[in-house]
Amino acid sequence: MSSEFARPDGRLPDQLRPIKMAVGILDRADGSAYVEQGNTKVIVAVYGPRELHPRHKASPEAAVVRCRYHMAPFSTRERKSPNPSRREVELSKVIKDALSQTIFLERFPRTSIDVFIEVLEADGGTRCASINACSLALANAGIPIRDLISAVAVGKYNGHIILDLNDEEDEAAEADMPVAIMPSFNKVVLLQLNGVLTEEEFKQAFDLAVKGCMEINRIQRETLRSKYLSIKGEEDEDV
Ligand code: ADP
Repeated sequence: MSSEFARPDGRLPDQLRPIKMAVGILDRADGSAYVEQGNTKVIVAVYGPRELHPRHKASPEAAVVRCRYHMAPFSTRERKSPNPSRREVELSKVIKDALSQTIFLERFPRTSIDVFIEVLEADGGTRCASINACSLALANAGIPIRDLISAVAVGKYNGHIILDLNDEEDEAAEADMPVAIMPSFNKVVLLQLNGVLTEEEFKQAFDLAVKGCMEINRIQRETLRSKYLSIKGEEDEDV
């Protein structure tokens, strides 16, 4: 690798941005989570399983996941219209499809599980940060899931394969590929590629994404574990 290669924020090619995660941050939601990956900040609220209205949209076989990905008007450099863009509609759908793979939907017929994603600050990788926050919020709501989904983007920037692109890198990248996996099942639940990669580069990028997802998965588990331990600590004090 060329020694002249440098990322705008000085990270190594295989280095994630600093991560912060928290769960149970909203009192009114059944489950909630906050995720920060560098300057990208998202908050997720989950409600349900709950009776679905209008009833004709309910399924007698399984819960229906409804998902809204939304960027706050102040989340981008130029004010973003608060109305849903085509991009937001598409992201809501691909995130819903990913989440539907992990939730035991068939256990909750005729109900809906409603997932609200609010991007507070967008600096690249918002769909991945959203997915990471969604799986934490689902777990926090006590909704049975098969696995915590973990997601990160990889890409090609100045000829190098890099992990976890920020907005500046994303804009200049030759390729950008968000990946979400269910690690315990070796299952890919989202993979999108903008740009061009050779087969060799694709393999290298995918392996790097999986490595990044595994590190994110470890932090997600640790976040849930420390929340559970702090609740248990409070309950023990009450006894
Ligand atoms: P992701 O956020 O998942 O990487 P994109 O590749 O579509 O999704 O967007 C990359 C980045 O471009 C976003 O994280 C955000 O910083 C910026 N961006 C996206 N949409 C807008 C918008 N409507 N206005 C300004 N910036 C935007």
